[in-house]
Amino acid sequence: MKHSLLDILCCPVCKGDLEVTIAAEEKGEILEGELFCARCHTHYPIHDGIPDLLPREPERDTEA
Ligand SMILES: [Zn+2]
Repeated sequence: MKHSLLDILCCPVCKGDLEVTIAAEEKGEILEGELFCARCHTHYPIHDGIPDLLPREPERDTEA
């Protein structure tokens, strides 16, 4: 995901601002890391450049 996306994205739960922690970055794109909402204390992982902004769900056994 691009850095500019951070201006657009907000927490799907409370619509608060998200803080980003970058673990891996390439060509200005965030590949691995984490988004964190300080308002409702929810973490959202970033994998393969795609932010997972789905509200937390119960663990599932099946993987896509
Ligand atoms: Zn939130």
